[in-house]
Amino acid sequence: MAATTTPAGFSAMPCSSCNCSSAPLTVADFDAFFRGGLWCCRFCGQTLSLWRLVRAAVGSAHTLLPGAVAIGAARSSFGTMVLKRDELAVLDVGSLGVPPDAKILGVFLTPVGGGENDGHLVPAITAQSFTRAPVPHQLHFHGYPILGGSDATDVSVLCNWMAPTGDPELVPLWSAIEAYSSGAYQEAIVPAAVAVEYKLASVLRAYFKQFAGEGRVDDFLQNGVTFSYQLNPLLPAVMHGVGAPKLRDEVANKLSWLRGKRNKVAHKHEAVTQDEAADAVVAALFGYQYLALYGPLPAKASP
Ligand SMILES: [Zn+2]
Repeated sequence: MAATTTPAGFSAMPCSSCNCSSAPLTVADFDAFFRGGLWCCRFCGQTLSLWRLVRAAVGSAHTLLPGAVAIGAARSSFGTMVLKRDELAVLDVGSLGVPPDAKILGVFLTPVGGGENDGHLVPAITAQSFTRAPVPHQLHFHGYPILGGSDATDVSVLCNWMAPTGDPELVPLWSAIEAYSSGAYQEAIVPAAVAVEYKLASVLRAYFKQFAGEGRVDDFLQNGVTFSYQLNPLLPAVMHGVGAPKLRDEVANKLSWLRGKRNKVAHKHEAVTQDEAADAVVAALFGYQYLALYGPLPAKASP
């Protein structure tokens, strides 16, 4: 089969105004949001709240462009597979550039060419199993003839996949996004909360180590201040001191909600809806980006 994209695949944030879907999110988009700006669509020029745009993309039921691809955590790769009459076709997504350790979120196959009423082949599998188990990287198909079939039919392939992150601080966020993408909404809550707790502790540790020994700082953050107090007032005070923009209310409020939800899920196994899991993922993404953008904090200039 022939791959038609770059090995890394692509991600895209759909514009909710013009429906274009080829503008990936950048760190600059988050920086502009935290500084009070609006996201501007490079195609239609519409200005939108990045917070609302990302929440809409994550909550969208778009199967070809799921939220994980929209926010850049997962990628899409395309290719073409040729089905031939009476021949086994092997689809190895590695040929599309999908890394061996990637988790496949979805594979979509569409026969192309010829008219609706022309004979062609469609991909058929002889053994079928639909479970939450990971989708294998190698899939086998036979060309099943429709309307008399044809000797060969091109089938376009789209594969959405998530590769493991190389950044240990991103692992909890990636886990939350992966759980949400698999429909495991309850399993998304704790890693979403941990993603921000972990990064926040890392930023505060780097800051306070300027003033106290490592052991004293670790004890302070683990036993002296809860996550709630770390988030408010410790973080605003520290960020104000270094000239970073304030964490916007919609993000801070949703992070407080996430903390409460995390406790209810962890201690009472409370149920989680898709909307709540989407809120959790978006709050974690913005919370993480805020901390990643403005911390670890720059060392103060010497007097
Ligand atoms: Zn647009």
